[in-house]
Amino acid sequence: MKRVLIHLRKSVKLIILLTIALLIAIGILYFLFRPMYIVKLNGEIIGYTDAKKQLEEEISDYMKSGNGEDIAFVEIDQMPEYEICYSKKDIKTNEEEVFDTVIASGTPYYKNYAILQSGEEKLYVKTFQEAENIIASLKEKKSTNAETITYVAKYSSEELENTDVTSAINSLYVAPVVEPTPVVTQKKTTTAKYPTTGSANTSQTVSYGKASLGISLTRPVSGTITSRFGRRSRGTHTGLDIAASTGTPIKSAADGTVTFSGGNPSKSYGYYVVVTHANGVQTYYAHCSALYVSAGQTVSQGQTIAAVGSTGNSTGPHLHFEVRINGTCYNPQNYLY
Ligand SMILES: [Zn+2]
Repeated sequence: MKRVLIHLRKSVKLIILLTIALLIAIGILYFLFRPMYIVKLNGEIIGYTDAKKQLEEEISDYMKSGNGEDIAFVEIDQMPEYEICYSKKDIKTNEEEVFDTVIASGTPYYKNYAILQSGEEKLYVKTFQEAENIIASLKEKKSTNAETITYVAKYSSEELENTDVTSAINSLYVAPVVEPTPVVTQKKTTTAKYPTTGSANTSQTVSYGKASLGISLTRPVSGTITSRFGRRSRGTHTGLDIAASTGTPIKSAADGTVTFSGGNPSKSYGYYVVVTHANGVQTYYAHCSALYVSAGQTVSQGQTIAAVGSTGNSTGPHLHFEVRINGTCYNPQNYLY
């Protein structure tokens, strides 16, 4: 009996010793190792974290709302996987790198505002405020297309080229149409910058037919057509308006002789040139800012005769171009543009 007791006591001692040893071992392990997550993306290890929840939240926030600047959101097809592991304490976590790798694997979407004209995308700006400014400015300047200009937020995976507000307004602006009133007299003033030479037919007979000219014409300027030939509520537009910036060279549409050069910068056609060609054909170039020819001079097709301006009855720089046969105005678009 006594021996059994001694034996039992020895066993208890041994169990206690083993337990202590185990606890010490666990303590050492715990001291050297800690739980963390291996982060994998498409099966490849991209880093380690011990703050899985925070990392997941940061990634998900970025996917939803981008960087608050140019990137609106990010689409990521494959989300990272997390595997728990116990690793040595000296392995460093690298959440920032993991975050960057995951974000870089996605597709960023950039936010821009598309400016539309009649529903068609014309250009892009960065902010809604810029879009608002463009529309307000076109309305204020009474651009004839102001009612057709709208904007919409646009998300795109490519960075779109942005236009600054001033350039956007310039490219969208269309000057209101103003009818030239018939020229009654050309008063010669000694102070005129471009003295009038020659004479011009100032009556305005119009034909809607398609008479043949017997000569071919070339474009006097290239630009946007802002008003066509034809009937209006008040009278008739006797020519074709082509918008171009002030100073753009105006070229004679065909060989001929200058029969008028001059005018009054504050009246109707402003400064203008008339070139008389073969077969009773004449071409008129109105609202010029400068005149380079005088009556009697012969000019060849394509020769610069004047510069685009906004003199006379005009609200923005453009060429008012007329084609006349024996004094009657014909639609220039029968022959050009
Ligand atoms: Zn006109």
